[in-house]
Amino acid sequence: PAPRRSRWGIVGWEELTDGSLVAGQPIGAPTWFPCNDRPDDRGRMRMEITVDDGYTVAATGVVGATTRRGGRVTTVFTSGVPTATYLAAVHVGRYRTTPLAGSGAGVVPAVTVAAPPALAAASDRAFSSVPDMLRLFDRLFGAYPQEACALVVTADELEIPLEAQGLAVFGMNHLVPAAQRLVAHELAHQWFGNSVGIARWSDIWLNEGFACYAEWLWSEESGGDDVDACAAEHYRRLATKPRDLLLVDPGPDDMFDDRVYKRGALALHVLRRRLGDGAFFDLLREWTSAHRHALVTTDDFRAAVDRAGGADAVDLLSRWIDREALPNLP
Ligand SMILES: [Zn+2]
Repeated sequence: PAPRRSRWGIVGWEELTDGSLVAGQPIGAPTWFPCNDRPDDRGRMRMEITVDDGYTVAATGVVGATTRRGGRVTTVFTSGVPTATYLAAVHVGRYRTTPLAGSGAGVVPAVTVAAPPALAAASDRAFSSVPDMLRLFDRLFGAYPQEACALVVTADELEIPLEAQGLAVFGMNHLVPAAQRLVAHELAHQWFGNSVGIARWSDIWLNEGFACYAEWLWSEESGGDDVDACAAEHYRRLATKPRDLLLVDPGPDDMFDDRVYKRGALALHVLRRRLGDGAFFDLLREWTSAHRHALVTTDDFRAAVDRAGGADAVDLLSRWIDREALPNLP
């Protein structure tokens, strides 16, 4: 297995200063295990990972048996939920794994943090809001849909955090208060993207627009800018950017373009204003429960919007996702 160069940068194994990780999204998975690397081909997985003693491995799935032999440690991870190949991940480093304070109670799942001991205090601080985030998302999106919730912090800086099934990885540079929105974003992917999964990459806004909207919801909940202010600010910025992107099919070069994220979140916000909070969050919870660990397309979302708000609401959504022109923000 070797990393692969792609139009989205290098994917697959990445060597860290003292460890390694594997980044699957969007086409890195076949560089480290044999698979049909399509988002609509999900499977349950069992991984058996052997590392040198002194290193810890975190991976997608539930941690099972650990055995030591000849200076090496083998750990088994089992995913009982259908997992997209791009959401399989392995992280190896000199990590200490600890339960996150305040997790594993009520609606908040048990969260484990794997971090270098030197970053333990900073990680605890950075993730101290995670139980509140998970409570908020439980209320707005429905019950946490994954078997595990692992947060990994690398001793290296990472360009971006990355979600995986029941897991998210952050660089040491993401432990600052300004990166809290990214923690909310990656957690929200456990509902949008990892449980409710896109059947084709062209529908990526169903992952990223929703996760971005979750950032705004958390901002308001945590006493930062409210969602209206976030929407207004990002609308203003979006208005200065080229209008040559179709949300419903941004194309491979633009699939991770920031406009997909922000315009997707704005589409949800205008829908919320049209439907009202009650109907809008009912729609989101119905979306996550009807398609729990299942595949969706944008047309499935149109159908859900139709049930919630009728043809007017579908037309409103269409103005944001099927056209390049930027509609007015009501
Ligand atoms: Zn994302």
